[in-house]
Amino acid sequence: MPEIKLPEDFVTYPEARKKAFMALKALKEQGRRVVGIFCTYAPQELIDAADATSVSLCAIGEENIPAAEKVLPKNLCPLIKASYGGAVTDHCPFFYFSDMVLAESTCDGKKKMYEYLDKLKHTHVMQLPPGRDGRGAQEYWRQEVVAAKEDIENFYGITITEEKLREAIKLRNRERKAILDYYEVGRLKPSPISGYELNTVITSNEYAFDIEKKIAFLEKRTAELVEKYHSEYEGKPSRPRILISGCPTHGVIDKVIKRIEELGADVVGFENCCGPREKKDPVDETKDPITALAEKYLRVNCSVMSPNPGRYEALSEQIDDYQVDGVIEVVLMACHTYAIESEAMKQFVTKEKGIPFLSITTDYSTTDQGQIDTRLGAFIELLG
Ligand code: SF4
Ligand code: SF4
Repeated sequence: MPEIKLPEDFVTYPEARKKAFMALKALKEQGRRVVGIFCTYAPQELIDAADATSVSLCAIGEENIPAAEKVLPKNLCPLIKASYGGAVTDHCPFFYFSDMVLAESTCDGKKKMYEYLDKLKHTHVMQLPPGRDGRGAQEYWRQEVVAAKEDIENFYGITITEEKLREAIKLRNRERKAILDYYEVGRLKPSPISGYELNTVITSNEYAFDIEKKIAFLEKRTAELVEKYHSEYEGKPSRPRILISGCPTHGVIDKVIKRIEELGADVVGFENCCGPREKKDPVDETKDPITALAEKYLRVNCSVMSPNPGRYEALSEQIDDYQVDGVIEVVLMACHTYAIESEAMKQFVTKEKGIPFLSITTDYSTTDQGQIDTRLGAFIELLG
């Protein structure tokens, strides 16, 4: 099988974040509004329609965790601690440049952390219903979308018009399509793209503030990869194909995703928030925009929802479409919702889909690298 090469202009995730600091600073100096977000449930179109730039506040790295642990318990998800630590120490330029935060009540850890975050900067928390199928859940969530819109309007003293919302929905749907097409290169067998590149580019793209440029970049790279598949890869043998599931992996790209590929398998897809989870599901452009946004964002199949049938459907589809040989689930330490769903996922993947499953619990430190390598190595060997 030909070696998978990174593109010459490849930029690592930490490098992309560094570049984005300066880009965001320049935008602020031009007077641009900036709203920080954390989660896939945040309707970015509301921010776009307010002529504001949205920026991800989900942090990586260990360096700000000790500062967070002065307030938050040690036994908490590293994503929450790193994000709060970056904010409270002013080490996170994305939080520093944000005027306000559009947050959501997903897991208990995040929603309680937001109470502290609000003391640093205005944080609007959209209150998610606990399950999307509960009676009244849809109408309740629609009201939360209205409340978020009104809060952004009051904060900036502006009006978000229906026309602006419709424009934003169209643009984000085009972006979704470009991202999805890029992901779906991983369906080709053998895959001409590494999972390391996929995870890096998609998460780095959260810091590409010009959406049109982002779409153009992704369309170009997708076309290059498809061409490369036909000229170099088609008909060649494939390494074992892995699907990643579980918590977001942007904080463990080197520690888990890169290591899987160095140990002899290909990461071909992601069933998590670093994957096509919400990209497959565009906002309905024909409906009233608020209703359409509410419907779309409540369909995100995260483990914070109970029950969460969408995750089984997504896993099943991706295992088939990406011709997956094994699933590796990444659970961030102390993420209760994904940890609890893990056994059900294992049963589903091994019994219903008939392929091996490995769950790894980890954090942002490097102390468990040896142990992770041993488990990944044994799993990949099992896949042959
Ligand atoms: S995993 Fe759940 S809580 Fe975390 S970003 Fe995704 S949707 Fe939000
Ligand atoms: S990974 Fe889990 S615990 Fe951490 S923020 Fe996401 S849902 Fe919450």
